[in-house]
Amino acid sequence: MKEINLRAHHILCTQGFQGYGYNEQFTNNLMNFINSAKVESKIKINLSCKCDDICEKCPNNKKGVCIHEDVIHMDELILKELNLKRIIESNFEDLIKIANSKLKNHKKCNEICGRCSWKNVCLWFKEADKIYI
Ligand code: SF4
Ligand code: SF4
Repeated sequence: MKEINLRAHHILCTQGFQGYGYNEQFTNNLMNFINSAKVESKIKINLSCKCDDICEKCPNNKKGVCIHEDVIHMDELILKELNLKRIIESNFEDLIKIANSKLKNHKKCNEICGRCSWKNVCLWFKEADKIYI
């Protein structure tokens, strides 16, 4: 079974991605990650609050640690809200559905992503921001 490392807040970023990113290497890696995760019927997903397969090609990843310290807070918040095991075997779209059922709304998206510099070009944030529940 294919195995991926995914820091929790990237469950949301993978949905919001519209081709923007830090550089070409980063965006290509992110695109490949999304495409290869979605094509599998079931994958082993290691959820965490640390650098993952997407961070691997990011210029902000310095020796395995993101220079933006607040991303860990976003990861922790999401893991707490979703109350999932750290290692799950799931279809990637099913994980997205679970996350969206709890997080895709105005209140939660602003709590989690309110300080993200990409939120104005993030499809997930723009959609979630309009949902009041
Ligand atoms: S607003 Fe930022 S942190 Fe939130 S999902 Fe979009 S890109 Fe990720
Ligand atoms: S900014 Fe940080 S959390 Fe986001 S992809 Fe880069 S290293 Fe990972």
